[in-house]
Amino acid sequence: MLKFREAAKCVSGSIAVSTCPKSLIARRYMLQQKLGSGSFGTVFLVSDKKAKQGEELKVLKEICIGELNPNETVQATLEAQLLSKLNHPAIVKFHANFVEQDKFCIITEYCEGRDLDCKIQEYKEAGKTFPESQIIEWFIQLLLGVDYMHERKILHRDLKSKNIFLKNNKLKIGDFGVSRLLMGSCDLATTLTGTPHYMSPEALKHQGYDTKSDIWSLACILYEMCCMNHAFTGSNFLSIVLKIVEGDTPSLPERYPRQLNAIMESMLNKSPSLRPSAIEILKLPYIDEQLQIRHSDAENLPSMDLMCRYSEMALEDKNLNSQEEATYIINAVQKKIHLQTLRALSEVQKMTPRERMRVRKVQAADEEARKLKKLVEEKYEENNKRMRELRSRNFQRQTVDVLHECDDPASDNLPESQPIPSLDLCTLGSNVEDTIADLGDHEIPEDPLVAEEYYADVFDSCSEESEESEEGKTVFSVKDEEVEDEGPQPVYRTNQQERTF
Ligand code: ADP
Ligand code: MG
Repeated sequence: MLKFREAAKCVSGSIAVSTCPKSLIARRYMLQQKLGSGSFGTVFLVSDKKAKQGEELKVLKEICIGELNPNETVQATLEAQLLSKLNHPAIVKFHANFVEQDKFCIITEYCEGRDLDCKIQEYKEAGKTFPESQIIEWFIQLLLGVDYMHERKILHRDLKSKNIFLKNNKLKIGDFGVSRLLMGSCDLATTLTGTPHYMSPEALKHQGYDTKSDIWSLACILYEMCCMNHAFTGSNFLSIVLKIVEGDTPSLPERYPRQLNAIMESMLNKSPSLRPSAIEILKLPYIDEQLQIRHSDAENLPSMDLMCRYSEMALEDKNLNSQEEATYIINAVQKKIHLQTLRALSEVQKMTPRERMRVRKVQAADEEARKLKKLVEEKYEENNKRMRELRSRNFQRQTVDVLHECDDPASDNLPESQPIPSLDLCTLGSNVEDTIADLGDHEIPEDPLVAEEYYADVFDSCSEESEESEEGKTVFSVKDEEVEDEGPQPVYRTNQQERTF
């Protein structure tokens, strides 16, 4: 059997595929034609001999990974397995993966309409624009796909018109080659990849990448679909970056609905937390309305019906499937699998031993710095906690000092560590009011000594009931001199306090 590498060589050369011997790759895929070359490798159209009739055409993407060690291959395979779990009409289906010599091969769904970038260029050259209803329909499809990914804690990280594909005029998000798992950590997701046009300010500033960064990129695609140009343009990399980071937010031309423009602008908020999520956008009245319109048209558009059914699943169900898949992701994380980008791997392979050593040293230093940073943060937190404890202990002691100066001398013997119940102003306030009301019902004893006992009981019970006060809250507004002046008369002092509330 002709080796895959030889077959691929044959296809990538100028010789037509038809002249190559019809050899099967992985015992089922037959090369049909070369579709193009990407930054990672070559893309072929293949025919799957084991597929159902009408579903034979698929895409084979071979990624040159050099000599991956078995561990790295396992990592890449795991990432591929994760992607194969994604199943949504707005996401290019990932069918299979395998390693053939030094090539990591991925089999995906074939999108005969090629990518959105090609489509935009084609329209632009013909001086055409997309109809508004088409743009909204495509935008909703992308939102549904992005929401589906984000629900499953998967970031795309490289959303751009070149990575959006067309099949039967429906958009599909593809090329997850650089997609990353969220994994609760930003470290994996901070490396800059791809063109700057769709990159969010935070990604450009190395401040981490999250779901909201994908939302930014999606807004750039929406702008491009409306204006046939990039949202942020410039003559060089730096000028584009400056516009993204510091420039004004672009607006859609007047001819587009005001609501659509408002949505796009909100997605381009410089602050990621202020950007809406995909599900929030889908729930906006304007978009929801558009979804309903398309839902009722669905009889004539079967794939839109499918899309709507998925949208219902996304909007209402938030289903068990995603939980199951999340468990899968968590398991993968627990195995401490760090999924590096295949690009990084192949670049490492190209390095000289000396360069590799340098990279390893830099990585080791980074790791050390991370550990130290963590340690410093822990110590800082520990110190802060200790300081808070000390402050509250001192504060309580002062409260006690104030109290016991004129109160029960026995409280002097309280051990230092014993928490002193302090009084909450509000609680005490209402208790005191209740108490006053209660007092109104009873005769106050005439004898000052008996009255003293009587009040002391009442206020003691107040302090027992009251909750612990928060740190820094005024517990008692008793002035030292007042306490001194009044001498050992707890009743009278308490009454003074009551008046100061
Ligand atoms: P890049 O690295 O530039 O993103 P790719 O490797 O993704 O390039 O793709 C190379 C070429 O193959 C592009 O012209 C793209 O449109 C085409 N292609 C990639 N995937 C598919 C697919 N699933 N269906 C149809 N064409 C595809
Ligand atoms: Mg691509």
